[in-house]
Amino acid sequence: MSSVRATEAMRCIDQHADLIRGIAHEVWNYAELALHETRSAQCLAGALQDKGFELEVGVADMPTAFVATWGSGRPVIGFLGEYDALAGVSQEALPYRQKRESGDAGHGCGHNLLGAGAFGAAIGLKRALEAAGLPGTVKYFGCPAEENLSGKAFMAREGVFDDCDACFDWHPDQINRPSVGTTLANNAANFVFHGCSAHAAADPHLGRSALDAVQLMNMGVEFLREHVSQGARVHYVITGGGQQPNVVPPRAKVWYLVRSVQRAEVDDLWERVLQCASGAAKMTDTTYEVDMLKAIYNVLPNGPMTDLLFDCFERVGPPEFGKEAREFARQIAENISAEQRESAFRGRQIPDELRDKLLCDVVLPRPPKEDEPRGSTDVGDVSWCCPTARLRVACQVIGTPGHSWQYAAQAGMEIGYAGMLTAAKVMAEAAFEVATDERLLDRIKGDFKERTGGRPFESALQPDQKPALHQFGAEQG
Ligand SMILES: [Zn+2]
Ligand SMILES: [Zn+2]
Repeated sequence: MSSVRATEAMRCIDQHADLIRGIAHEVWNYAELALHETRSAQCLAGALQDKGFELEVGVADMPTAFVATWGSGRPVIGFLGEYDALAGVSQEALPYRQKRESGDAGHGCGHNLLGAGAFGAAIGLKRALEAAGLPGTVKYFGCPAEENLSGKAFMAREGVFDDCDACFDWHPDQINRPSVGTTLANNAANFVFHGCSAHAAADPHLGRSALDAVQLMNMGVEFLREHVSQGARVHYVITGGGQQPNVVPPRAKVWYLVRSVQRAEVDDLWERVLQCASGAAKMTDTTYEVDMLKAIYNVLPNGPMTDLLFDCFERVGPPEFGKEAREFARQIAENISAEQRESAFRGRQIPDELRDKLLCDVVLPRPPKEDEPRGSTDVGDVSWCCPTARLRVACQVIGTPGHSWQYAAQAGMEIGYAGMLTAAKVMAEAAFEVATDERLLDRIKGDFKERTGGRPFESALQPDQKPALHQFGAEQG
């Protein structure tokens, strides 16, 4: 019975395919950075309002965070939307390198597709519930700053996800199946060192170099690297190192990101990174401050929800890549190295049967083992607040590097759009199952309770920590 009604959701998504594509393209064009996604958030929120959703804007002290709600009663089903871009990957929707004239940022992680696909799922579920005359609440979470600043962590701390019975997420990928496994928890901060300026040749003895402190901190961390747990990662970029070599830099700034599979391991590693900063300050007779940016959890999977996504993906089928998409794929594949392609096969557990394909046009079965945690997402925090599952849908040629111009190009044309529409359908189907099968929902909740031990979510953010609206603002030094 449910499959007939669920078709209602799929029909709705098909009917709105041009609208969903249009939203994805509009957000792709805006390509706005973390916590400055003003037009992108307005585009999605406006579209949801047009479809009868109630809006709450400026959630958790972030002007570009919003929640759109439709319906009433249980269950409460959430869809996670993202729309932030990345710096430095501006790219036209062309299969060769061509930076856009309009700016430096681009959708090199496909979050334009992510947000629009989640919109499709939300309106699809709404239609299916209406047609079936069933109760239920549909929530679209407009989550800013997934890259770098983790908007969901601040929303989770405010309890925004607490009343959800189940929350669905997806990400553009190179394969078609749900995610199985976890991600890396992480911390990020700016370390700002303060020294003393002096004429670099005439009075070097009067100077205390803040840049020296940054370099010594980095050296300390380089030696620390050998003594961290498997899978831990530490990255940094120097975002301020002085202005001219003949002046001892009085101020220098380094942005750190520290990751590990377990939240507790990040806490331990973070303490050791802080020691490197403190040691560097002592060695250089400088002072420093830590400007915390974020702290997030790894993803907590949900067994029954993941199984459900496998079933629904089978039923919906893979994305349909037309002639235009296939021709674009052929051309962009010339900009993907054999090593990148090989790495994708190993890292994503892609079966050898797909060796002769550029695009994954089949739904993959459950892989032999869990996915290696290769990156991080603030969906982690959501997954400790309510049962959450994640879908991956082919929106790029196999081997497309992450956070790249090749990725941004495909996110702005039919390869990405085909995958996005499929993602919307699979999530809407799965959500409708949850809304119509009480026993399934009991199993989902039981699995969640078992994995969390029934403990309430405790944010890893410092209690007084505010969203880092300044990080991509005017002041970048
Ligand atoms: Zn990303
Ligand atoms: Zn992403």
